[in-house]
Amino acid sequence: MREKVDKLINNALIVTMNKDRAVIPRGYVAISEGKIVDVGVGDGKSKYDAEEVIEVKRQVVTPGFICAHTHFYGILLTGSPWFGVIEPPSDFQQNLQRIWWALDESLTYEDIYISALLGAIMLARTGTTFFKDLLDAPNAIEGSLDYIEKAVNEVGIRGFAGFSVTQRRSIEEGYQGIKENERFAKKTWSDKNTKVKGVFTVHASFTVTDEILIRTKELADKYGTIYALHVEEGLIDVYHSIERYGKRPIERMRDIGFLSPRLLAIHVVQAIEDELKILKEFDVKVAHNPMSNMINGVGVPPVPKMLDMGITVGIGNDGYIMDVFDNMRTTYLLHKVALKDPRVMPVDKVVEMATIDAAKVLGVDDRMGSIEPGKDADITIIVPDFVHTPLDERTVYGHLVNTFTGNDVWGVLVEGEWVTKERKLVNVDVEEVMERAHKVINKLWERMLSMEPKYKIEYLKP
Ligand SMILES: [Zn+2]
Repeated sequence: MREKVDKLINNALIVTMNKDRAVIPRGYVAISEGKIVDVGVGDGKSKYDAEEVIEVKRQVVTPGFICAHTHFYGILLTGSPWFGVIEPPSDFQQNLQRIWWALDESLTYEDIYISALLGAIMLARTGTTFFKDLLDAPNAIEGSLDYIEKAVNEVGIRGFAGFSVTQRRSIEEGYQGIKENERFAKKTWSDKNTKVKGVFTVHASFTVTDEILIRTKELADKYGTIYALHVEEGLIDVYHSIERYGKRPIERMRDIGFLSPRLLAIHVVQAIEDELKILKEFDVKVAHNPMSNMINGVGVPPVPKMLDMGITVGIGNDGYIMDVFDNMRTTYLLHKVALKDPRVMPVDKVVEMATIDAAKVLGVDDRMGSIEPGKDADITIIVPDFVHTPLDERTVYGHLVNTFTGNDVWGVLVEGEWVTKERKLVNVDVEEVMERAHKVINKLWERMLSMEPKYKIEYLKP
């Protein structure tokens, strides 16, 4: 008697990312009620009677990829005419002032919704099933995270969202941001039906007071969530901390009791060895966004050193390029160039950083990040049209990092439900979204172009 299951992915090359990092050359994944119930070698049809059998030639099955850090609103600037009217920034601080703060101050609730809809579509199409988003929108704080929640639920992937608390313009706006984060966390953690949960996020230590950091950690403790902030992305963060507090940012955060294993430090580009030791001591997690670091010209974070020290690092995109394959490939290459050492960042480690390690970074590794019985059925199915060398258990990590792109993603399951199938979004009409989005984005760009570029926005000097 064959056991009944909802779905059976059969005759697949399975990259499990389980404890043994087992790769099954030809096997099956059985799924029922949103969970993975069995993973095995051989023909699953002899064991299971499935309502739906997925058996596509050359299919590679991986855990749904996990994005450790993004800003959906960041994608609204791709190709924007704004870049043509500003004095090009020549460092990170100018980059924030002239580009990012000009954008985030222009955002409306409609822009936030559209950006999350586009972002979730882009992640789903390219194989990412879970993310952590930070929203900066100082003129649309209250209720803003509901718009991200709505858009993501429409697409069908899952993630964490937080408002990026800052006091760069006023002390008060920091408390409004915290209030929005608490409102959203309270609402979403008690709602079984929503796929987006609230987490407590701060912009960066150089735009908030100690009180904001302490309150953020208290709330994350209270709700049992992760909390996150940008750490030493640019040198401004370091200079500000040394000038104001006589110590570097990570030392400041340690001294006020802000560090813990649930803290996600984003970027960590400028950190020195003493600071990395502190991160390791408190088991702080790190989100690495290589392509964002490259386009912003902020430098290369010491990721190989972090990994050697045993710090857990997940790959994110910082709201720049949403395709996880691009981000894995860049993670693989960047550190080799920076260190002039081709040995660093092996392919299997890079895949870990986009799956199981990213799950650890976001505190969801009990449910996601690997293909194992008992875990949620968040699964990415890759079916490349063309592969130039043999595709098997020996080569699959190499192909994941060197060959495949987001266009090779054939389907994505979240909790056992199709989000994309046969390379198409299941829950939303992409043509319709695009048409609407382009209208909204054109309006946003017009608003930005009609404002006086604020080259001299003051960052907070508490
Ligand atoms: Zn960021």
